[in-house]
Amino acid sequence: MIDKEKVERAAALLLEGLGEDVGREGLRETPKRIARMYEELLGGMGQSPQEHLEKAFEAQGNGIVLEKDIVFHSVCEHHLLPFFGKAHIAYLPDGKVVGLSKLARTVEVYARRLQIQERLTAQVADALMAYLQPKGVMVLLEAEHMCMAMRGVKKPGTQTVTLESRGVFSEAEGLQESFWRMLGR
Ligand code: ZN
Repeated sequence: MIDKEKVERAAALLLEGLGEDVGREGLRETPKRIARMYEELLGGMGQSPQEHLEKAFEAQGNGIVLEKDIVFHSVCEHHLLPFFGKAHIAYLPDGKVVGLSKLARTVEVYARRLQIQERLTAQVADALMAYLQPKGVMVLLEAEHMCMAMRGVKKPGTQTVTLESRGVFSEAEGLQESFWRMLGR
């Protein structure tokens, strides 16, 4: 859980360290704003997608379910700068499906933490396997990292792509091909 008071003090200290006058008008409320902002941006800490994913319902049919272009925003733990992009999630149900918004919720729970993209991708895949228990899962994340665009190598527009497969998707190549086809790649 976030200690807002501590974040406020730290933000003021950071501004001071940056050579700023924390008393000047534009900055006076900044530590408070920063504390509120982090509470929102990192609101997924301590949350679990379990309750969302366990609201599954029985379904006939045995085809792949794909939800693509789920927009997400996260914060990189190395620089505290945002990275954001799209998640594409496919799963092969084993008699149970969830409402489509639950997949987006699952991404949200893990994106709203200090993250690295690789871990975010794996956590979404593992949560689906654990709580929805499908035959398999495929999770693809494409994101732009502000720590790549604004600093260091300064390469805006670069997309980082991460992929995790679980269950039948890691075993059967035909299924992976179907995933790419459904994504239109
Ligand atoms: Zn970074």
